[in-house]
Amino acid sequence: MKFLLLFWGLVLTAFAASGSVSIQPLDLAELPKGSLGNHTQFFIEEGQQLTLKEATHIYKAGSFRSGKQTALTFGVGSPPVWLALAVNNPTDHFLTYQLATGTTWVDLLNIYILRADGELISNIQTGDARTKTPELTPGTGFTYSQRFPPGISHIYIRAATVDPLILPITLTDIEEVDTSNQWTQYAYGFLYGYLCALIAYNFMLYFGLRKRSYLYYLLYLTSFILLNIAYTGHGYSWFWPNSPSFQRYIILALMVLYSVCGLVFACRFLTLNQYAPKLLRWIRSFMLLGPCLMGAAILQDNQLHAVMVAFSYQTVFTIGMVLLGAFAVWKQQDVGHYFFTAALFGMIGTAITTFAVLGWLPFTPLTFHSVNIGILIEATLLALALTHQVREQYSARMRAEYMAHHDPLTSLLNRRGFYDLANSVWSTNIRKQRPITIIIIDIDYFKQINDEHGHVAGDLTLGKISQLLTNECRGGDILTRWGGEEFLILLPETTLEQAHILAERIRSSIETLKIDFKQTHIKTTASIGVSERGSKQTLNELIYDADSHLYLAKDKGRNQINSTTFSPHPQQ
Ligand code: GH3
Ligand code: MG
Ligand code: MG
Repeated sequence: MKFLLLFWGLVLTAFAASGSVSIQPLDLAELPKGSLGNHTQFFIEEGQQLTLKEATHIYKAGSFRSGKQTALTFGVGSPPVWLALAVNNPTDHFLTYQLATGTTWVDLLNIYILRADGELISNIQTGDARTKTPELTPGTGFTYSQRFPPGISHIYIRAATVDPLILPITLTDIEEVDTSNQWTQYAYGFLYGYLCALIAYNFMLYFGLRKRSYLYYLLYLTSFILLNIAYTGHGYSWFWPNSPSFQRYIILALMVLYSVCGLVFACRFLTLNQYAPKLLRWIRSFMLLGPCLMGAAILQDNQLHAVMVAFSYQTVFTIGMVLLGAFAVWKQQDVGHYFFTAALFGMIGTAITTFAVLGWLPFTPLTFHSVNIGILIEATLLALALTHQVREQYSARMRAEYMAHHDPLTSLLNRRGFYDLANSVWSTNIRKQRPITIIIIDIDYFKQINDEHGHVAGDLTLGKISQLLTNECRGGDILTRWGGEEFLILLPETTLEQAHILAERIRSSIETLKIDFKQTHIKTTASIGVSERGSKQTLNELIYDADSHLYLAKDKGRNQINSTTFSPHPQQ
């Protein structure tokens, strides 16, 4: 913990090096765009709390330093800071401007407006450690309308927070405020709308497919929305405006929750239990560590510890996600590239925002909202990765189904494939009392082909004969590799006579077939059994009958057809 204190403490020292320059009052008629940090002077309140009088005294003595960034950042655990800014109203009437300062998580803000003669015009006390904060503007900071009298006015702001202290100051013409607020609200509307749509979509996928990756992914997205709602001030402004003690820790606790949800999803999605069970154990311990440390900090009511736990934990998480992505790519996981790219975008976005919040990068609307852009890209890529995973699983299932029904050598149906198709054809045929026949073909002396030319030649022969049979069959015929060198064709809407004609065509085509293999021609013949349904009750009876005709054809000397009514005769 001490090391962490030192580490984040370095952030503070980065801002000590700015000079003391007297700055001209800003002309309200010619205000520069954006944050006015480099027109502001600041003073870090070491030791006792200063009163306004003491602060103005120090300011007049020239002990304030001028800001060097547009948005002044003071890092984590900073002592309270005083800001001073002088403005000039060149007109002879009051001008109203919206004064915006702080980020939404600043604990205490005291804003004083003084005339040049030192008279206090207004004093606003706000910050998220207070309960009544109408000034809290989600997504922006603390804002209110201020009337500036003619001539010079001084703005003094005292800000105190344990969280990262960032103090952008803007003065916006009251007429332009609505447009700029509108755009902020549209942007958040789009962000939340998009993420909610993704959540709903993943919920439906989880509901339909019961795949836990979807559930974890939607929890991860939900935790991001909750975190976003909390740190943008939407939560404190809309949901828990009267619970400053809840507000004090909720952002930090949600940072930890978001990281844990991200890791839970990553481990599941990348199936670490299969690829890296040891690594998974480490990650699980890390998942436990965050909530434990955060819980301890909250129980001790130590906000500084909680801040350091949250930021350190989230930093490790963000880097960890990219490393997990790189690991998945290295392990050649199917979705590795998607995950790696997604995590990289998420990490870059989160890193930019974290660094801006910690003061290591300029704090601008773009750097502050980088995390949202990064997460939008990450969420989209991960949603694509999840659908890719489903597509892969679907085609794997289709492949497996094909393999279960087909013979790999000839690509013809196997017995299982045959029965799946043939049973319904058979019952339709019986119902409609239509003719149906079966042809069984067995290659003669096939063993000799294997013995003389080798197994490869045997396979080649089987392939050529399958092709030949495929060419001879019509659309509705069901051609099957029945066994080793045995083929079966179920012929719906075919009489015995028609089947016999086809069988003869097949027999003579096989007889004349020449298979080129290593400078020789392999020649072969086939015996064929044919049977028609007649009075047979089942498909297997018909097959059995065709098979017995095949054996008769073999017995009678091979290279011939045998069937019920057609008496076997040699075909030479
Ligand atoms: P018959 O005229 O009595 O049918 O004799 P046959 O040699 O053709 O029949 P048998 O049943 O004795 O032998 C069949 C052979 O087919 C034996 C087996 O090794 C071979 N065989 C079965 N499946 C395959 C295969 O996928 N590839 C190859 N190359 N040979 C196979
Ligand atoms: Mg044979
Ligand atoms: Mg055989």
